Parts: sequence; structure tokens; C-alpha cells
Amino acid sequence: MDVTRLKSSWQQVAEYGDEVPLFFYSSLFLTHPEVRSLFPVSMALQRDRLVGALGRIVSDVDRVDELVPFLQHLGRDHRKFAVLAEHYPAVGEALLHTLSHFLGTRWTSDLAADWTAAYGLVAQVMTEAADASAKETPPWWDATIVSHDRRAPDLAVMTIEPHQRLSFRPGQSLAVETPLRPNLWRYYTPANAPRVNDTIDLHVRVVGGGPVSTTLVQGVRVGDALRLGPPVGERLTLSGREDVVLIAGGTGIAPFKALIDQVRSEGGDRRVYLFAGGPTRRSLYDLRALRALAEAQPWLRVVPCVSREAASDGVEGGDAVDVALRHGPWRSESVYVCGSPDMVAGSVHRLAEYGLPRERVHVEEFTTGTEPIGGIS
Ligand SMILES: Cc1cc2nc3c(=O)[nH]c(=O)nc-3n(C[C@H](O)[C@H](O)[C@H](O)COP(=O)(O)OP(=O)(O)OC[C@H]3O[C@@H](n4cnc5c(N)ncnc54)[C@H](O)[C@@H]3O)c2cc1C
Repeated sequence: MDVTRLKSSWQQVAEYGDEVPLFFYSSLFLTHPEVRSLFPVSMALQRDRLVGALGRIVSDVDRVDELVPFLQHLGRDHRKFAVLAEHYPAVGEALLHTLSHFLGTRWTSDLAADWTAAYGLVAQVMTEAADASAKETPPWWDATIVSHDRRAPDLAVMTIEPHQRLSFRPGQSLAVETPLRPNLWRYYTPANAPRVNDTIDLHVRVVGGGPVSTTLVQGVRVGDALRLGPPVGERLTLSGREDVVLIAGGTGIAPFKALIDQVRSEGGDRRVYLFAGGPTRRSLYDLRALRALAEAQPWLRVVPCVSREAASDGVEGGDAVDVALRHGPWRSESVYVCGSPDMVAGSVHRLAEYGLPRERVHVEEFTTGTEPIGGIS
């Protein structure tokens, strides 16, 4: 396989931008209409994911150490979309057809052989990982909503009950699908450590009028069904025994409540400082519960803060990261940050300016999409 030739041909195709996934999916659904039901009704976002994932695969094609774990993750993750081994050849055919369409006379028999071999390897690694995980876990977990507390027009705290045991580590996230929005999976983070009765709390805020968050906040009811994917993410889980500083924006407190649960179950043998931020007091939707937690646990300090209002009544003024830095110095603690992408990026930047070594800062880093990416599945 000529890796340079493979990469340069992909670059030439990627220059056609949105036309590439449009052509790919048209070709796939025309020749294999049976796979259409695996994809969301609206394909608008899906198109970017295909190009993004293929780009990542092709650019790492000569770095097996990085590519293989990524493909194995994709293979396992695609089980929740009901992707089966027999779907892979259909996708491979559509991919080759797409490449030949855009490359025209540059699509030679040697290049076709390279792409066929590369896709064959990708499909093999993904199906083997999927088969291995099928021996241990179901493709998804069915769950029922057992409580739904609409704390604000745009925010709900719900408790769900998986029908089968779902093991996860505090700080990990789960992909969630509601049948009201089929095939649209989004990550949400349990706000508790695993419980004896297996129930899981989720905090969901509507963002950008998006389909899944809007449905989970405004459209679902107690008794409704959800599907859950396997737990993902390691960066927000606790490691070591050192004290921790948790900096949260909005529903970013969810993983931190899970970590606090974990420290409590381990006997409260480390100090935990939680800085829970939002723009206004009204946005601090979980303040009462957080204060009750802090009152009950001597090792826990909770500092609520607001960035767009003045400080008052135990709520400090400023962005959560700035308030956290005011409470320093943090010489040995591990610092965890969770919130919107902008909040996380801004906080990481401020912590670097403050001089905190990057290895002591924990944030979730996600590169995988949450829908089937077609081109490599
Ligand atoms: C690991 C992980 C854990 C997550 N945990 C939670 C959680 O516990 N609670 C929760 O409410 N959300 C959480 N999210 C965000 C969630 O997965 C969805 O992205 C969000 O609910 C929007 O989905 P949607 O379908 O409604 O909107 P989409 O159609 O996905 O997005 C609508 C618009 O909002 C933008 N957008 C998406 N997410 C965000 C965001 N977080 N901040 C700002 N803009 C955004 C999109 O770019 C788009 O323009 C988590 C995300 C990740 C990656």
C-alpha cells in the first residue's frame, strides 16, 4: 500500500468539501436502501462527520499505534447504531465509487487497489473489535426515565433506570438516544457514582435549540424509554490520591457530583474544592443540593459563582476559573474543568497563564462523532 499516494488522493478529494459526503451518502442509500434506517432523519450534521473521520484515518494510516485504538473504539461504538458486519462492504463500495467520481482520470487501478486494501483493514479492525465487545456487553442498554425535574425552561435533571446493569466510572459519559429523535446520539454525564439500584442522574441543558437536548428537557416524560451507549472518557475520572479542584460551568457540575460521590464512598480521604459557575444566580440550578452536600462533608468545599451579576449571599463574582484561582495557591492539587467548549478552552488558557502544569489539568477531549460515520463503518 502506497501511503503517500493514499494521503495525497484523499487531500484532492477533500478539496471538494460538502460535495463529497453528499455524493457518498446518495450513492450509499441508492445502492443499499436498507442502511438508510441506521442514519438520522436529517443528514445535515452527519456529512461533516464522515469527512472528519476519514480525514483522521487517512492522516494516521502510517501511525498504526494511534489508528488501531481509534478504529477499535469506532467499531465498538458503532454497535449501538445496529451496524452489522454485512454493512461494511456496502459502505466500502460507496466510498470507492465516491473517490473514483471525484478523482476522475486520477483514479488509477493502483490507487483503487490501495484504497481497497486500506478500507479492508479498517473494516477488519472495526468488525473484530465489535465482535469482541459483543461477547461482553449488549449493543446498547435500554433504560426508562423514572423522574424528570424541569428546573428551568431550558434545564432538566432526570433519573433514569437501565434495564440491565451498566458499569461506568464516575466522570465517564454515556451516549444517549431518545426514540423521539431516532439515531441521534449525544453524550451526557452521570451525576452520580454507580448505585446499588443502578439508577443514573442526568443534567441536561438545551443548547443552540439542538434536537436532542430540547427533546430531553421539554419533550420526554416519566416512563419514556431511552437507549444508552457504553461509557466513554477517562480524563475526568479520578486518579492518584491528591486533593482536587473542580471547576464547573453550567451542567459541567454533573461529572463532579459523580466524583464527589466517589470520594464520599471512599471515606472522604482527600479534600475537594468545587467552583460551580454560571452567568446568573438563577442559572445555578443545583445550588441547594450542592450546599447540602458541602454541609454534610467536612472534606468538601463548594463555592458558587456568577460571572454576570455581583457577588451576594455566599455566591462569589467572576468566572469559575478566576474565582478558583483567587482561592489558591494550588500547589499540588489536580484541577478538573468541565463545561461548554468555550468555558473549558478559556479556563485551560487561564490556568496555563497562572502557571499550572498542563499535566495537572484534566479536561475531556473528544474527537469521535456520536452518529455512525458511514464512510468507515
Ligand atoms: C463528553 C460529553 C459529555 C457531555 N455531557 C453533557 C451533560 O452532562 N449535560 C448536557 O446538557 N450536555 C452534555 N454534553 C453536550 C451534549 O452531548 C450535546 O452536545 C448537547 O446536549 C446538544 O445536543 P443537541 O442535539 O441538542 O444539539 P446539537 O445539534 O448537537 O447542537 C446544537 C448547536 O449547539 C452547539 N453545541 C453543542 N453542544 C454544545 C455545548 N456543550 N456548548 C455550547 N454549544 C454547544 C452545536 O455546535 C450546535 O451549533 C456533553 C458533551 C460531551 C462531548
